[in-house]
Amino acid sequence: MYTRQKFAGIELEYQGFNYFGPMSRLGILSALCLVTLVFLGFQNRGDWGFYGHRLINRMAVFTLPPEMMYLFKPNIDFITEHAVDPDKRRYASPFEAARHYMDLDHWGQYPYDNLPRQWSEALIKYSDIVWYRSDMDSVIYRGEDLWLRFYTTDSFPWKKSELLDKSDFPQFFMRSILPHYYDDEWEIPCEVWQAYLGLDKDVPCQAVRIIDSLSSHGILPYHLIKMQRDLTEAFVDRDKSKIIRLSAEMGHYLGDAHVPLHTTSNYNGQLTDQLGIHAFWESRIPELFAEVDYDFFVGKASYISDPSEYYWNIVLTSNSFVDSVLLIEKELSITFPSDQQYCFDERLDNTVRTQCREYARAYQTRMNGMVEARMRQSVQAIGSSWYTAWIDAGQPDFRKDAFVASDQTLVAEEDISQKKEKRIKIRGHE
Ligand SMILES: [Zn+2]
Repeated sequence: MYTRQKFAGIELEYQGFNYFGPMSRLGILSALCLVTLVFLGFQNRGDWGFYGHRLINRMAVFTLPPEMMYLFKPNIDFITEHAVDPDKRRYASPFEAARHYMDLDHWGQYPYDNLPRQWSEALIKYSDIVWYRSDMDSVIYRGEDLWLRFYTTDSFPWKKSELLDKSDFPQFFMRSILPHYYDDEWEIPCEVWQAYLGLDKDVPCQAVRIIDSLSSHGILPYHLIKMQRDLTEAFVDRDKSKIIRLSAEMGHYLGDAHVPLHTTSNYNGQLTDQLGIHAFWESRIPELFAEVDYDFFVGKASYISDPSEYYWNIVLTSNSFVDSVLLIEKELSITFPSDQQYCFDERLDNTVRTQCREYARAYQTRMNGMVEARMRQSVQAIGSSWYTAWIDAGQPDFRKDAFVASDQTLVAEEDISQKKEKRIKIRGHE
């Protein structure tokens, strides 16, 4: 979430510039406040806190059957330590951030039936194709309900639209558009587009670009499904280092999926005057109480027969708790003595203003132990995802089967991120 907090900071800076002017005293004051705000925001960054993610990953190892322990037990420190890798990557690539959340409320009402549960279907539905016929003229196409609707810029703001009889659009998208998703620019050759629409080659076409309006609202459940596939493949390939690295990272994303505030656009209470509730819920409370008060014996990992349904259910369940998370804290902030809500903590030579222990305890109690329950469910789900990948790969025997070690996938993925970053930057100037 804190990448987005950074964005919020940039917005604030922008507003400060407008309201006060860069040279005024108020302007300087507001800039100072901003720097303090951003700085404080970064002090508590992370999801479940780094502490929580590491703890959850570690505990998940103990849900595994003895056959898997031959690989996982010797690597338990790696799995613990690298539970936070995906968060670290968020600062290297803006595209990583979308994998950690999904603003479900952006897509309508619970249970968000208009949102396809498959990534490619959602992309078809929520991507625009912009056909640049000339510098001044373009046509925008949108795959609505798996059909194709086009809007001409002549009639901006698109009052005039027409539905094309193109029921083969999903197939065209999968065959000719999706393979270019990771290119520097997400675009398709003019000839391909012209051929699809049955147009002559001399019909004006400068470029055909695709605008992804899905990803900026988060893709967490889709990414979980992809991670499950990747992890299964790593088991199939008998690639030890890949198995361990992907297991650690899967643990991270699944941990995020259990946090209610990772499923709403009001992710840090910024819309309800509850700024800071994100770290309060997922970092401060576990750091205060998990080690002593929480019970992490959750039983054995179980087989996930339908990963897509299973992961969507986790995210939807998290989302169903959003109202409680926000309303209970709101009510508590009104009824709890106001001078006992915030305390000062010493951390690494810094004094940090944070929620007092008793205030946190009261919040936890009123939520009926929700934080502990979600952590426990994270542990169970993570163990189950690893276990399922192992079963689906034919239960390789770590003592007998030949294993290899490679880091190729990691390299390939970073390459893609850099390319995509470049692509978006170019788009930002259009
Ligand atoms: Zn995260």
